[in-house]
Amino acid sequence: MARTDTDVLVIGGGIIGLGVAWRAAQRGLAVTVADPDPGHGAAQVAAGMLAPVTELQYGEEPLLRLGMASNERYAAFAAELSEVTGLDTGYRQTGTLAVALDSDDREELRELHSFHQRLGLESHWLTGRECRRLEPMLAPGVRGGLQVTGDHQVDGRRLTAALVAACERAGVDLHRAEVTELLVEAGRAAGVRLSGGEILRAERIVLAAGSRSHLLPGLPEGVLPAIRPVKGQVLRLRIPEQYAPFLSRNVRAVVRGQHIYLVPRADGELVIGATTEEQGYDTTVTAGGVYELLRDAHELVPGLTELPLVETNAGLRPGSPDNAPLLGPTALPDLIAATGHYRNGVLLTPVTADLLAEYLATGATPELAAPFSPSRFGSKVPA
Ligand SMILES: Cc1cc2nc3c(=O)[nH]c(=O)nc-3n(C[C@H](O)[C@H](O)[C@H](O)COP(=O)(O)OP(=O)(O)OC[C@H]3O[C@@H](n4cnc5c(N)ncnc54)[C@H](O)[C@@H]3O)c2cc1C
Repeated sequence: MARTDTDVLVIGGGIIGLGVAWRAAQRGLAVTVADPDPGHGAAQVAAGMLAPVTELQYGEEPLLRLGMASNERYAAFAAELSEVTGLDTGYRQTGTLAVALDSDDREELRELHSFHQRLGLESHWLTGRECRRLEPMLAPGVRGGLQVTGDHQVDGRRLTAALVAACERAGVDLHRAEVTELLVEAGRAAGVRLSGGEILRAERIVLAAGSRSHLLPGLPEGVLPAIRPVKGQVLRLRIPEQYAPFLSRNVRAVVRGQHIYLVPRADGELVIGATTEEQGYDTTVTAGGVYELLRDAHELVPGLTELPLVETNAGLRPGSPDNAPLLGPTALPDLIAATGHYRNGVLLTPVTADLLAEYLATGATPELAAPFSPSRFGSKVPA
């Protein structure tokens, strides 16, 4: 059986694992990523909204701080990736408009606006007419909205492709294989077994397997809480040139209690998302899901029925028990978590990569990562 030694082994080459691997390799560490299909996780489906402010929910202030820190790093992160790979990431500073379609929605948005103001966040109230002046394709019934100039977008597919290329260039060893077992020796995470039987040994192991993180065979019970898969269905439309610019910024609303958003990309793609369904590891695209997305999006932007529908897709958001990520050492020595990013994994990639690389290079937990320690779930040191 072959043996390979490495400083850091990352289990899972989704957007988070790749980001961590790239930054860790830049710190001079020898890094290996194990994934049967690196770059093909949930970010292939994600809309790629970078929306710490419009996604904000009450009680999530630590997550806001993390999201804002990542958003601030995004322009430089995307520029560096493009520079080293020659690939475009689709990062666009568009801003976001969150609109209300009826008086209840307007009340809710008003409350969100007050919350933003209390926290000192950049967020401006607009009348319905002002919203339509910014986005003429909006339904005439729009009652008002919030303009958030700092919530932008990136193309998750382009970004992960750039991360794969950047990892390769930085000398990260990409093992296209599944990890079938975590090897625990002398009370620490010592290595993994791969689907072909090969064993890889590492000084430190980063668990970044998204919604499958807690299912890893060999992972001692109690080290990681269950990471639940939260299904999201998404549609992709194409904006023909004669309709451009159809929308100029991310547009979102709550329709019948469901969040709906439209993300217009520079290349003419219009992403409409997303359903939120908790039913295990199923990624079937359903008639009902597509219908609801189109119905709600049509209420917001009636003209979209003219656009070609080019793709329907579904992916799994990795949700932790408190919907915030797990970042840093677990109770099992030398096993480090980078998972549970739920609906913000694309946004949180730059900051997660930096914080984890800092920990891996220095052994110190950065202050920004402290609230996201896996120990908050009371994980036990395995006997
Ligand atoms: C519909 C939808 C819309 C979204 N919209 C947004 C958005 O607008 N903005 C935003 O910031 N985020 C969004 N997200 C969330 C974001 O996509 C996720 O949080 C992020 O992609 C999670 O990345 P990850 O690398 O942690 O996990 P994943 O993408 O799930 O990747 C995990 C990787 O681990 C690998 N793996 C699993 N088990 C093993 C094993 N045993 N051995 C080896 N490899 C393994 C898998 O092959 C996979 O490549 C959305 C998600 C969905 C589904």
